[in-house]
Amino acid sequence: MKVGIVGAGFVGSTAAYAMVLGGVASEIVLIDINQAMARAHAEDIQHATPWSHSAWITAGDYPKIAGAEVVILACGVSQRPDETRLQLLGRNAKVFEEVIPRIMHYAPRAVLLVASNPVDVITHMVTRISKLDQQRVIGSGTILDTARFRSLIGEHIGVASRSVHAYVLGEHGDSEVLAWSSVRVGGVPLHEFAAQIGSPIRETVKGSIDEGVRRAAYRIIKGKGATYHGIGAGLARIVQAVRDDEGAVLTVASLSTRIKRLEGICFSVPRVIGSSGVASELWPELSEAEYEALSRSAQVLRQATSELGY
Ligand code: NAD
Repeated sequence: MKVGIVGAGFVGSTAAYAMVLGGVASEIVLIDINQAMARAHAEDIQHATPWSHSAWITAGDYPKIAGAEVVILACGVSQRPDETRLQLLGRNAKVFEEVIPRIMHYAPRAVLLVASNPVDVITHMVTRISKLDQQRVIGSGTILDTARFRSLIGEHIGVASRSVHAYVLGEHGDSEVLAWSSVRVGGVPLHEFAAQIGSPIRETVKGSIDEGVRRAAYRIIKGKGATYHGIGAGLARIVQAVRDDEGAVLTVASLSTRIKRLEGICFSVPRVIGSSGVASELWPELSEAEYEALSRSAQVLRQATSELGY
């Protein structure tokens, strides 16, 4: 599969590396306004192929993404001192207004996969600018938060995180919702499983896992300036699901169409991913408090999107 990546910084280049290690793509094209950096990443990542999987990694301009089946968007400008969130969003909107028509010109059949933050609002914006069917525009949404949630639960109960089914819903950000009610371990509700093994999920445990998920980005950025390995692997996983028409259930962002009272808002719930992008969306079992929190999270996003005029 051919994959284009626009924005070859920490996230874009790490997604390319994860795709090479996982054998997800046979051709990857990196595009960045910093062309020298994109070329350097392409060369460096190419050198991983003899020890992993065959793939051609190049850097270049938009004509090179012709025929790409997925284009990842990881470009963006960072916040200036004294700049408001809305001003930053406005500058990022300009980046996407320029980039999306060029992608659509050369790769009109591609599924667009958005990682740039604020990812839910940008995914909404990209859906509108591209005029693509909304199922073809996927935001990485809470895939990273879900990975953090699964990792921490797995650590607490001593089970591989791949065998923990747990979802973080809503905004990729402060208002996100950890759906404790629907957590299953090998099909068994988490509370039952944890009690069986003598590691009950007390409120203090929930509190520290909640904090661990919610504050992860702040801690990682404080320690090393950016987060990119987790999201790089998450992006590679989504591309794999598209490539294989897999029907994988992943928490990604998309304009919601079927969820009562939350239509037209771009946020994360578990969605079934296949070759056309989002095939369908699921509604996990939620407590009343979780449902209320998810509705509040959706309203935060509705407000942010309407402030931008999308
Ligand atoms: P980065 O600064 O390393 O990379 C951004 C790249 O975009 C830069 O190389 C820049 O040159 C490029 N760029 C800017 N304008 C461009 C344009 N018009 N065309 C092409 N390239 C352009 O930043 P990063 O750490 O890689 O993060 C990228 C984005 O991903 C940010 O918005 C960040 O907040 C987001 N992010 C998302 C998640 C998630 O879970 N969704 C996790 C981490 C980071």
